[in-house]
Amino acid sequence: MRVALFGIGGQVGSILDPALVAAGHEVVDGRKQGPVGCDVAVDFTQPNAVLDNARACVAARVPLVIGTTGFDTGVVDVLARTAGVPCFFAPNFALGAGLMMRFAEEAARTFPRAQIVELHADTKLDAPSGTAKETARRMANDPPIHSIRLPGLIAHQEVIFGGTGEVLTIRHDTTSREAFVPGVLHALEAVRNLPAGLTIGLDQLP
Ligand code: NAP
Repeated sequence: MRVALFGIGGQVGSILDPALVAAGHEVVDGRKQGPVGCDVAVDFTQPNAVLDNARACVAARVPLVIGTTGFDTGVVDVLARTAGVPCFFAPNFALGAGLMMRFAEEAARTFPRAQIVELHADTKLDAPSGTAKETARRMANDPPIHSIRLPGLIAHQEVIFGGTGEVLTIRHDTTSREAFVPGVLHALEAVRNLPAGLTIGLDQLP
């Protein structure tokens, strides 16, 4: 497929670009060339850039896969639904992060007292992370979220459950941004067959 990549020079984009080409796709710089004539688009940019990129994609009727976090998902959903274009957002494309969220949702049924600690690189603009917010949404009891931003980190999260005389910790560590590649490739293949509007979460993909 011909893929418009918004954020091609960023920390994630610069990993995705050669990975998409290796997977047989043709990649164009979304910011320079725009999405017109592409089969699908990917956005790993900044929270304040997503809306304009989504507008350009739905105007060109190009389905969009969004990895950027911290934007208003409701606005993009209405935009895409109105235009009849499918879009997809995952707060975390790492396969293990999806499992962490699923396990945390299950553990919360047994241990209602929990807190989330999310740790990311100091270059990350939004806090709490999209992954932490999505984890909390899936657990009962609105767990508090603690955000840490430091150089040297990539993306890490602990969900800590406190019980009587015991503590359960579920932890996921992204040790390389290549962890996001398989999830993005899967979403690129799936997005065109999703319903119009914004679908959220890797576990919603066929
Ligand atoms: P980054 O290194 O800061 O890269 C962002 C890139 O976007 C930069 O190259 C920037 O270019 C470019 N950019 C900014 N505005 C743009 C626009 N309007 N159109 C096109 N490109 C634009 O950030 P990152 O670490 O790659 O992360 C990007 C986003 O993905 C963040 O929101 C992060 O939280 C999120 N993320 C999500 C996942 C996930 O699994 N969902 C995983 C990792 C990161 P200039 O510097 O030239 O402006």
